[in-house]
Amino acid sequence: MKNVVEISGVFKKYQMGATEVQALLGLNLEIKSGEFTALIGSSGSGKTTLLNLIGCLDDADRGKILIDGIDVSSLSEDEKSDLRNRKIGFIFQSFNLIPVLNVFENVEIPLTIRKDLTEEQRREKVMAALKDVELDTFADHRPDQLSGGQRQRVAIARALVTEPSLILADEPTANLDSKTANLIIDLMLELNSKKKMTFLFCTHDEKLMNRVQRVLRIKDGIIENYVHES
Ligand code: ADP
Ligand code: MG
Repeated sequence: MKNVVEISGVFKKYQMGATEVQALLGLNLEIKSGEFTALIGSSGSGKTTLLNLIGCLDDADRGKILIDGIDVSSLSEDEKSDLRNRKIGFIFQSFNLIPVLNVFENVEIPLTIRKDLTEEQRREKVMAALKDVELDTFADHRPDQLSGGQRQRVAIARALVTEPSLILADEPTANLDSKTANLIIDLMLELNSKKKMTFLFCTHDEKLMNRVQRVLRIKDGIIENYVHES
């Protein structure tokens, strides 16, 4: 299978007044199309930093990041946001839904800048994504009329509506009770096995890891148990 993500020797530091925080220290990672990878690490270990770099929301100081074979350091800001919009889906801890929009409109957001789609094509894609998360009958509900688990399913639908190469999930279950958290993981695993969607799922919760085959551990800015697969 081809690599969706190829990262080699990536460094990232933050400046905090006079102090520097080294968040990533020469990190390597490959993710193949169709894989479900769990990245586990305690708070402050660099998970969000890594996802932000993969999602082209921030730039590495050093090292190489390829998304679908494209070197992101070679792209302009416009090209990066285009790549982000077409190839990456995001799921966040706090769902990040827009409260004044209904479920349909929230899921439609990533498609609204797509000039190549008609309104009808957008509608079909949104409804198909809502079916995938079993919320098609909730299309006209507002986020505040939904449970936490349902809100996160809306966010999953929004992440997959563009049919991205990769879905990045940053602690998507941290605001959910453990039963709901497990249902959200079940849903992501099912989307992975049935629809071959590629996931990189970050968590600090060891308990959630027992059903995921590929578990990587990040500590002090590198992946501890990383083995380069040839
Ligand atoms: P995680 O998501 O695993 O909790 P982060 O990637 O958010 O870890 O953080 C890694 C390290 O970088 C931590 O020491 C954190 O304090 C620091 N850090 C993250 N973002 C910033 C920022 N914007 N400014 C300064 N330091 C930051
Ligand atoms: Mg984080």
